[in-house]
This record gives sequence, structure tokens and C-alpha cells, in this order.
Amino acid sequence: MLPFKLIYSDRYDLNLGAHVFPSQKYRYVRDLLLSDGIAAPENFLAPEPASDDDILRVHTQDYVTKLKTGSLTYGEILRMEVPYSPELIEACWLAAGGSILAAQRALTDGCAGNIGGGFHHAYPAHGEGFCVIHDVAVAIRHAQSTGAIKTAMVVDTDVHQGNGTAAIFKGDHSVFTFSIHQENNYPHPKPPSTIDVNLPDGIGDEEYLSILEKHLHQAFHDFSSDLLFYVAGADPYREDQLGGLALTMEGLAKRDSLVFDYARRNHVPVAITLAGGYARRVADTVRIHANTFVAARDASLVPAS
Ligand SMILES: [Zn+2]
Repeated sequence: MLPFKLIYSDRYDLNLGAHVFPSQKYRYVRDLLLSDGIAAPENFLAPEPASDDDILRVHTQDYVTKLKTGSLTYGEILRMEVPYSPELIEACWLAAGGSILAAQRALTDGCAGNIGGGFHHAYPAHGEGFCVIHDVAVAIRHAQSTGAIKTAMVVDTDVHQGNGTAAIFKGDHSVFTFSIHQENNYPHPKPPSTIDVNLPDGIGDEEYLSILEKHLHQAFHDFSSDLLFYVAGADPYREDQLGGLALTMEGLAKRDSLVFDYARRNHVPVAITLAGGYARRVADTVRIHANTFVAARDASLVPAS
């Protein structure tokens, strides 16, 4: 059993049919955590959908109206790269509610995981790259609005740069954005995060981990945050279909441990979201995501004192 809560709903599935984004992975991660005895049923909490007011702290009224009324243009739907459906919108509001809950539980318990979310390519007025609503930004703005936190850090290790995160928090000194990603990959262009680590193609475990460590050291030296949101993409994996890095499963687990180690040593609670993962075998993506929660357990994260 895990010493922290996991947020999950069967309705996280984005209803995509055959698609490179395996959104059934959320259910598989839940099932694997249970079948391997990593988590127990008591670990799981069901999210409420975010309110429209929550969503509107990040997204424009015009965009929200289009999403809710199904009146996006064809071009806007193409840019999202996921088919529009009422289930998709429900899943996005629910994932945002899940990240809000993960932030709340992280603050009380030291750590919490949303088995979903991490939609870091969503912008205030449009969606792109499989991302419609920026659940992490919604959760940070929610926690700031209640006074639960003043500052937050987003550490994004998805293979794709966190362009939506960078754009949303541009010029906001209360949120530090950190993205380590493959340079020669979507998105183009990459709006600047507080720290962007642009990696060359094909980098492996050892080099990746030493570069990550150097920049985490800098980030935690430069900024003190009340909450860390970890966007734990599974797609720096060497078998990923949309990534061009060459990390092994063990290397990815060490990556997670490194992030959690910095959080623990700096007394920063951690909310985890999953983000991307497009391994040839979906089971690999699922195992990488499950390993992130194992690394969080082993890190013994504690609430800020
Ligand atoms: Zn990605």
C-alpha cells in the first residue's frame, strides 16, 4: 500500500478509439498498481470535475464556450489532434479536477498522484498536441486562489517541451517552469520556460541523468516553492514512437527518483501527473508510469513543515 493517495476515474479515458495516444493507459496503470500490490483500493480517490470557474482561471471564456458547446472550428480540432466528443470534454474537466485534488492531497500528505493529466501543451485559448485543458495550471491557480500555496514549480520531463505551461506562466514570478526535453521534436517553436533543457537526439541514461541533476540543482537553488507539480512523461523511453531519446526503463525510474530526492531534501510536497507515453508496447508505457509511483513511495516525501 502506498503512503499517499492516487486520483483516478474510469472516465479519464478520452474515448479516442484507435489512436497513438493510448488513453486506456490510465485504467491499465490503476490495474497494474493493484495487481502488483503496490497500491491498495484505499489508496484511490475519485475526482470531481473542475468547475468552470476553475478552468477560467487559465483558459479564455471564448475557448471554454467552444469546448462546451461543440463549436470549435475544424482547424481548432485538427490542432488538438484528438477527436472532439462530449466524453473528451468530460474527461478533461475531470482530469483538471483530479489535479486540483492531487495538489490538495500533496499539501496534506507530502505526495499525491493523479493517474491522468499532465496536459502541458494546452494554451489559454486553444488546445494542441493531445491536450485540451491545462490541468496542472488549473490546479496551481486553484491552490493559489484558496491561499493554500503562493508559489509552485512545474518539473516537466516529458520528451516534448511544456509549451503551454511556459506560455501560461510567462512573466509570473510565482510559478517556476522547468522542462527537459528533446530539442528536435514537437513543439515548434518552444516558448521559453524558466529553465529549458534542450537535449540532443538519442541521449541515454547516464548523460540524461547528469544533465537533469545539474539543472535541478540550479532550479532548487534559484527558487523556493510551496508545491512541485511533476509532469512525468513516459516518452523519453527508447522504445517510444513519438520520442527520439534513448532512456531505459531503469533510467526513467532513476529520473523520477532524482526529482523526488530534490523535492524531499527541499521539503517540497509533490503532485504527480502522467503526461505522454507512446511506447510500441502499451504495457511498457504503463510500467513506466507505475514505476513513477514506486519511486515516489521510496522517496518518503513529507508535507512542508
Ligand atoms: Zn510528450
